[in-house]
Amino acid sequence: MSSHPSFDTCRLPVEDSTVPFWHQDLHELHDHRTTEDLPASSDVVVIGAGYAGISTVYHLVKGEASGNNLSVTILEARGVCSGATGRNGGHLRPDMYTPMTKLIDRAGPELALEVPEFEIAHLYAIKSLVEKENIDCDFTLARSIDVWCNEEAALKAKEMFDILRSRNLEYMKDVFFVLGKDAEGISGVKGVKACASFTAGTLWPYKFILHLTKLTLETGLVNLQTHTPVTSVTRQSSGGFVVTTPRGTTITRKVVYANNAYVSGLLPQYSQAIVPCKGLCTHISVPEGTRGPFLNNSYIVREEDKTISYLVPRADGSIVVGEANSRYRPFLETWYKNVDDSVLIEEISNYYDGYMQRLFHGWENSCAQVDKIWTGIMGYSWDSQPHVGAVPGEDDQYILAGFNGHGMPVVFLSALGVAKMVRDGIQFEDTGVPKVFQTTVERLENAKKDLSGGDILAMNG
Ligand SMILES: Cc1cc2nc3c(=O)[nH]c(=O)nc-3n(C[C@H](O)[C@H](O)[C@H](O)COP(=O)(O)OP(=O)(O)OC[C@H]3O[C@@H](n4cnc5c(N)ncnc54)[C@H](O)[C@@H]3O)c2cc1C
Repeated sequence: MSSHPSFDTCRLPVEDSTVPFWHQDLHELHDHRTTEDLPASSDVVVIGAGYAGISTVYHLVKGEASGNNLSVTILEARGVCSGATGRNGGHLRPDMYTPMTKLIDRAGPELALEVPEFEIAHLYAIKSLVEKENIDCDFTLARSIDVWCNEEAALKAKEMFDILRSRNLEYMKDVFFVLGKDAEGISGVKGVKACASFTAGTLWPYKFILHLTKLTLETGLVNLQTHTPVTSVTRQSSGGFVVTTPRGTTITRKVVYANNAYVSGLLPQYSQAIVPCKGLCTHISVPEGTRGPFLNNSYIVREEDKTISYLVPRADGSIVVGEANSRYRPFLETWYKNVDDSVLIEEISNYYDGYMQRLFHGWENSCAQVDKIWTGIMGYSWDSQPHVGAVPGEDDQYILAGFNGHGMPVVFLSALGVAKMVRDGIQFEDTGVPKVFQTTVERLENAKKDLSGGDILAMNG
C-alpha cells in the first residue's frame, strides 16, 4: 500500500518515482536550470516538461510557430520527461478503429473521422522531425499487429472492421484484417482468433524529448527550471500573471498548462474532466544466445480473458510491454486519482513474468525475463478526448492535457495548434486540431454533472 496521499490531498508529482527503463542514461539536461533563480519575467510560461510542454516550446521557438522571438520559461516539478512521457510504452500507434463507433455516435462521422486522420498524420510528422533534426531515439516506422484471442471479441472486431471498410475510408486501405486460423501464423501469438495490422511507429520517448529540449535551449529564448513545481497562477490587475513556485515567482503574459494528469491542481474546473490514473509498464530482457525470434511488429495483445497489453519490440531483441489494467480495475484506490508512481501496482507486479513464453510462438525456451518494472500517471479524460485550446473564459491561458494512455500520436500536432494560438492569437478552429479535442465549458460542465465518472470509470470499471 502506498505511503503517499491520493490526488485529493497531494496535487503534485511525488519526488521518489520508480525508475523506467528509458531513464537508464539520464541526459545532461535532465535536472537542468538555465539560471540559478527564476527569470523575473517572460512572454510565455509553460508548465510541465513532458511531450506536451516540450513540443509546444519547440514549435514556438524553433518549429512552425516560431519567428516572433517569444521568450519562454518552462517550469517542471521533477526532471525533464519524468512524467507519463518518460514512463510510457514508446508506441506511436494511431488508433483508427477501437474508439470510432462510440465517437461516431457522439460527434457524428465528420468530426469523428478527423481524429484517426490527425493520429496518422503524427506518424509522418514525427518521422520528418526525427530526420530533419537528426534525433537519435530508435525511431521505427513498421506495422502494429492487434490480436484477439477471445472468439467473441474477434467476431465483434471483424464486425467493426466491416462497418469502417464499408464507409470507404481512405485510411482503411492500410489496415489488413484476418479472421480465423491464419491469424496465429501471421501474428506469431498462440491461440489467436483474429488479427489486424497497419502502419505504426515506435521510439525511445525520453531520448526524443530530451533532444527537442536541447534544440529549444540552443535558441537562447528558453529558460528551463526543473524541480520547480508551480503551486498557483494568479492574474494581475495590471495584466499578465504571477506564477508561484516554492523557489519564488515569475511574471508572464501567457500561460500554457501542459501538466497533464495534475492540471486540476492548478485549474480546479478540470477536476472531473481530467483525472490522474496510474498504469504499469515493464522491460523484458533476453540474455544473448537464449532469445526468442526477433519481432518485426509492435502489438496490442488481447488475451482470452480480454486482458490487454501493448508490446513494443526493441532492435536488441528485448521487449517493452505493459497495461493489463483490467486486472486491477476493481481496486479503485490502486489506480484512480492515484498519483503515486513511486510504488508498483501490486495486482500485476508479477503479471509479465513468463509473458513472452506464455504467448509467443518460439519463445518457450527463451530466458526472457522482466528486468525493469515501473509505474506512471496518465491524465484520463471524462469523455476520452484530450482538452486542447484556450481555457474557457480565461484570456491568455491555454491547456493541452488529458491524453489518456494514448498521447504519442496526438500530442505533437496538438502542441503545434496551441503554439499557433499563443503566438498569433488564432482561434481553435484554425489550428487543424480535431474539433472534439477543443476544451469547452460544455465538456467541463458535462463532466461535473456526471457523478458516474464518465468514460474513465465506464472503461475501467
Ligand atoms: C505506463 C504508461 C504507458 C503508456 N504507454 C503509451 C504508449 O505506448 N503510447 C501512447 O501513445 N501513450 C502511452 N501512454 C500515455 C502517454 O505517455 C501520455 O499520454 C503522454 O506522455 C502525455 O504527455 P504530457 O506531456 O501531456 O504528460 P507528462 O509526460 O505526464 O508531462 C507532464 C509534466 O508536468 C509536470 N508537472 C505536473 N504538475 C506540475 C506542476 N504543478 N508544476 C510543474 N510541473 C508539473 C510533471 O512532472 C510532468 O513532467 C502511457 C502512459 C503511461 C503512464
